[in-house]
Amino acid sequence: MPELPEVETTRRGISSYILHHKVHAFKVREPRLRWPVPTALAKILPGQRIDSIKRRAKYLLLGAETGTLIIHLGMSGSLHIVAAKLAPETHDHVDIIMDNGQCLRLRDPRRFGAVLWTTQDPCQHPLLRHIGPEPLTKSFSGNYLYRASRKRRCAIKTLLMNARIVAGVGNIYANEALYHAGIRPGWAAGRLSHQDCGALATAVKSTLKQAIRAGGTTLKDFTNSVGQPGYFGQSLQVYGRQDRPCMRCASPIKRKIIAQRASYYCPKCQS
Ligand SMILES: [Zn+2]
Repeated sequence: MPELPEVETTRRGISSYILHHKVHAFKVREPRLRWPVPTALAKILPGQRIDSIKRRAKYLLLGAETGTLIIHLGMSGSLHIVAAKLAPETHDHVDIIMDNGQCLRLRDPRRFGAVLWTTQDPCQHPLLRHIGPEPLTKSFSGNYLYRASRKRRCAIKTLLMNARIVAGVGNIYANEALYHAGIRPGWAAGRLSHQDCGALATAVKSTLKQAIRAGGTTLKDFTNSVGQPGYFGQSLQVYGRQDRPCMRCASPIKRKIIAQRASYYCPKCQS
């Protein structure tokens, strides 16, 4: 599943190809994504310039002249820049063709992604309205996390993955951040000290930033119709490493299911 760093890398990757360009055509081959793709966009979008490409949590917001396209990659979606004339493949459901001959193509085999349109402030859209602060901004801090976790009995990892608490921290990076902060994923959120919360907020930021930096090296994949932006596996230190030695202390990494999600931790470094 694309997480925040993948979405941010996508945003950066597609920007230079479509920002300040006008839409020439909007083609939907399969409107049945998580919600139906508005077919009216084929009439609304052509002729409109894309003035901004922003990200809120894991949503991409393409600001056009009369509204905003809200794109979510769901479980398996990816965006690619291809030549408009390149024949689509089976799971290439939506094309946004620009006046420079480039095409932003959405591929989504499992169709949990979304392409929506709003003429209002996109951050007030029902899908985005209740999302917590962006993890890479100052509003997400140790102080904030400390206040938000008081009296919470859920696991700290579950709290970190709650979009109302902080935007876009998925399973992979929640595991990684907890490892870097030396905090066990299953601990009750409300029992974390102020110091723990500070270390965790810092670790969330550095983990995401590192992944975004690693993703920068895959930017060229956005011009490749078959290349997947992929995940930045080279930088993962604990996720998916059950029974393998901890990179710090060599203890075997443990795996535990917390709130139905696979959780990995070092029993020694996170104790
Ligand atoms: Zn360790």
